[in-house]
Amino acid sequence: MPIFHTHASHRPDVPALELEHVTVHYRSDLPALEDVSLRVERGELVAIVGPNGAGKSTLFNVIVGVVKPTRGTVRIYGSQPGGHICISYVPQRNQIDRRFPVTVADVVMMGRVGKIGLFRWPSRQDWELVHKALAQVGMEAFADRPIGELSGGQQQRVFLARALAQEAELILLDEPLTGLDMPSQRAILAILARLQEQGITILVATHDLNLAADHFPRMVLLNRRLIADGAPEEVLTPEHLAQAYGGHLHVLPTESGALILADTCCSHGEPPSLPLGRDGRARTETAEKEE
Ligand code: ADP
Ligand code: MG
Repeated sequence: MPIFHTHASHRPDVPALELEHVTVHYRSDLPALEDVSLRVERGELVAIVGPNGAGKSTLFNVIVGVVKPTRGTVRIYGSQPGGHICISYVPQRNQIDRRFPVTVADVVMMGRVGKIGLFRWPSRQDWELVHKALAQVGMEAFADRPIGELSGGQQQRVFLARALAQEAELILLDEPLTGLDMPSQRAILAILARLQEQGITILVATHDLNLAADHFPRMVLLNRRLIADGAPEEVLTPEHLAQAYGGHLHVLPTESGALILADTCCSHGEPPSLPLGRDGRARTETAEKEE
């Protein structure tokens, strides 16, 4: 059951997110994103996947309005980006300094600032929302601890609580699972599934194809351009993977289906692996082509 109100202020007939022909140039000639069109309905849980440098973080920055597209349009609940209180963005590498002298509850209260204004004290109701949000991610017991003392996985849960306290309707998480152990990854994924059930729209950027295929109903495969968009089995075809990862794909036939390893797509040393058990035929063809 949702503990936060959904907002009645958005027109009901528009999608949560709509990008049309979005191109982004930084300083170089090669665009970071090229002609990307994407429509996400309310309550969808979408993985944005692609190799390092594919433009995943750029896509998020365009959605929140930090980066302006060179061409194309972005609409969030029907209006332009920038100052949308309904978006919560948890950027990449959010690990907080151990000495950062702020409590977990304070971090979550920062999510309320947009609602209560900078110069008013939080009300009892604001604190109640903060504690409810922490309870929802299983972090209530940590409310008074300094944020810096928490593990990476616990900090991610606190950032999710902040998004809830903000009453965000669109949550963008950039590589939230990178560097976390399996139990923390599972905890975060379970929280995301619950938030989705509440009607919150969630986009998660990840370079881990395996994880995305297992936990996300929809994947968007990017490599500057949008290469594929749909259910994992539609997106993860040998053709699409070759387009996204070029010659850096290695297909290893195993007993449980082929395993796809991409060798240059991530900066963290762990190659993303993809056991493809669902459609053995196509994979065998790729495996032969690769040899
Ligand atoms: P990803 O998140 O998928 O790894 P990014 O969006 O971070 O990809 O980067 C896409 C491309 O844009 C890369 O080539 C990167 O070097 C470039 N880029 C990203 N941010 C900036 C920036 N602020 N200024 C200039 N180039 C950038
Ligand atoms: Mg990135």
